[in-house]
Amino acid sequence: MKYALVTGGSRGIGRAVCLKLAQMGYPVVINYVANDQAAEAVKAECEALGAKAELLKFDVSDPQQVESAVEAWQQAHPDDYVAVLVNNAGIRRDNMMIFMQNDEWHTVLDTTLNGFFYLTRRLLKDMLTKRWGRVINMASLSGLKGLPGQANYSAAKAALIGATKALAQEVAVRKVTVNAIAPGFIDSDMTRDLPKDELKKMVPMGRFGKAEEVAALAGFLASDEAAYITGQAISINGGLY
Ligand code: NAP
Repeated sequence: MKYALVTGGSRGIGRAVCLKLAQMGYPVVINYVANDQAAEAVKAECEALGAKAELLKFDVSDPQQVESAVEAWQQAHPDDYVAVLVNNAGIRRDNMMIFMQNDEWHTVLDTTLNGFFYLTRRLLKDMLTKRWGRVINMASLSGLKGLPGQANYSAAKAALIGATKALAQEVAVRKVTVNAIAPGFIDSDMTRDLPKDELKKMVPMGRFGKAEEVAALAGFLASDEAAYITGQAISINGGLY
């Protein structure tokens, strides 16, 4: 059976992507790192949509945890594989570069960029041997244009887009597509502390996006209809560039 695995599936955009994929009929593996209650709630919501759902708690930035979680999942699912991988887990540690601490730099890169690498490398083999797969990477407008106070985050997301384009060319022949989504400002816990009234004036549509709008794009990229789209970074930003 083809499973979908969504990292950071317990909240925000990841939660909405889990629900979208559940609605499309995928059994969903919900990854998260800390928030058990939120993850349980997403599992229940997926099940209410009639889909199978399971939790897989691990820190994407820790290669040992990635390895043991995937190994355990594969042992428990000898006849299944992760056909849709959504690398969505991400964090912000904003600071002006002149004040930025080593840990603020490293934790952001470790989660977004290294997390993508550890997990995708581990799951690619099955997609390649089964000759069908979707890798969807949650990048950001910040990775396309750079945002002040986010040198760490912009670097991680820009690198993720570069890796998306390189990997897409490696695996295209096996019918595995690799794309990035670059959201602008989306309502979620991550953007809760931002000055929304000020920021939304910068957005031509005059509002923040909804997690469900990003999830709809992820759902399309995961579908058979998107088979010829690969190596792209698709913006979803209300016209803000
Ligand atoms: P969010 O509401 O803060 O949720 C973050 C999710 O990531 C949570 O499920 C969290 O799990 C999980 N997570 C964090 N670190 C993790 C780790 N080391 N291992 C596994 N899971 C981890 O964030 P969001 O706004 O939905 O953002 C989702 C993605 O979209 C991120 O990559 C973000 O950079 C990107 N994005 C967001 C926006 C925006 O405006 N919101 C814009 C552009 C791009 P717990 O619940 O266990 O903490």
